[in-house]
Amino acid sequence: MPYAPAPVFRFAPSPTGFIHVGNARTALLNALLARRAGGTFVLRFDDTDLARSRAEYADAIAQDLAWLGIPPDQVAHQSARLPLYAAAAERLKAQGSLYPAYESEDELDLKRGLQRARGLPPVYDRAALALTDADRARLEAEGRKPHWRFKLDQRVVAWDDGVRGPQQVDTASLSDPVLVRADGTYLYTLPSVVDDLEMGVTDVVRGEDHVTNTAVQIEIIQALGGTAPRFAHHNLLTLPNGEGLSKRLGHLSLRALREAGQEALAVAALAVLVGTSEAVVPVESLDVLAGKIALDHISRAPARFDPDDLPQLTARTLHHLPFAAVEARLKAAGLAATEAFWLAVRGNLATFADAAEWWAICTGPLVPADAGDDAAFLAAAAACLPPEPWDPGTYKTWIAQAKQAGGRSGRALFHPIRLALTGRETGPELAALLPVMGRARVEGRLAGKLA
Ligand code: GLU
Repeated sequence: MPYAPAPVFRFAPSPTGFIHVGNARTALLNALLARRAGGTFVLRFDDTDLARSRAEYADAIAQDLAWLGIPPDQVAHQSARLPLYAAAAERLKAQGSLYPAYESEDELDLKRGLQRARGLPPVYDRAALALTDADRARLEAEGRKPHWRFKLDQRVVAWDDGVRGPQQVDTASLSDPVLVRADGTYLYTLPSVVDDLEMGVTDVVRGEDHVTNTAVQIEIIQALGGTAPRFAHHNLLTLPNGEGLSKRLGHLSLRALREAGQEALAVAALAVLVGTSEAVVPVESLDVLAGKIALDHISRAPARFDPDDLPQLTARTLHHLPFAAVEARLKAAGLAATEAFWLAVRGNLATFADAAEWWAICTGPLVPADAGDDAAFLAAAAACLPPEPWDPGTYKTWIAQAKQAGGRSGRALFHPIRLALTGRETGPELAALLPVMGRARVEGRLAGKLA
């Protein structure tokens, strides 16, 4: 069998803002497919736009990926790789695939306006290709600096898209793309292609807003003598009203969701599963989520989602998380919590932070509420407490005796006990809480003491 190298996937955000759930979809698909295949996940910052890129955003994106549970195997910054792009540009120039053009933005606008007025598509007319050496010398003497356009083959470019199936784009319908600006800076296209080749990227999974770019990029890859990666373009996330997500919608940034107490696993499940043939359900790990990914099950229609569904998904995610998945987080939150504690309370959590409240309730001290008429009953119930060790079966035995001793049943039996032990009207099963609280505390609280 031929040796198949491990795949390389990349997530390539431009660090111009905080990333949101839609960006998380792209990042997670790449990271989890890489993980599933034993491949590499690269985080590449597309930061050649120095005016808009900020180091704080790059740091924030790295933190957001770590929070999601998909820290990259490698990190690269395009701003540190400019010589590679310059070398590629020189090669393309030498081949005649990259040509200088001198039109100003205004002149291009004017041309496009005239084309539209004549019912023609606003495609660049390649006037610059007709310039002679003398024309160029004259333009440069006027102080004009060229920008550089890639000369498209004007042919049908085809690829088998992982999500969309066979795709064809006729590049004759496109303007020759500008790869290098007049000030020598690069637009996104060339650095992206050069990096994908140089980093050995085998798979590009990105939003469907890049489908047309893909045809152009395949032509450039071929002009550079490279082999195109596999491409897959997923649908984009929209709000229920059809509005697309943008980095300006701060409340759906991963940062804001984290601060609002949403679970990373819930955000991940939503980001990956919405707009596919899979139901959006809570998952217990990213590996389980990875197992649910099938690119060809991603819908072609936009993936509508309702941010208001997230709190419920967060709660449902917490309700099933095994202790091993939260042990380190509990410790980091300063809770010396045990598995028995976690299993007792997880079903009552709306957010992870609620665990701290239950920890405080379980480990005291709890200011006693005035038991009023129930004090005598609670004292009688305390007298029935069995000796330790306690387990989740202890409660049943004890409550049967307390029922007898107090001559009570139903709400009159359970409510004062719950209130005395937890200070709350509702909460986790007392049977599970009792062993966590321990006999001394339970006895003290039933006696109305600070315990
Ligand atoms: N920086 C581009 C973006 O954020 C990357 C697109 C790509 O994956 O090639 O849209």
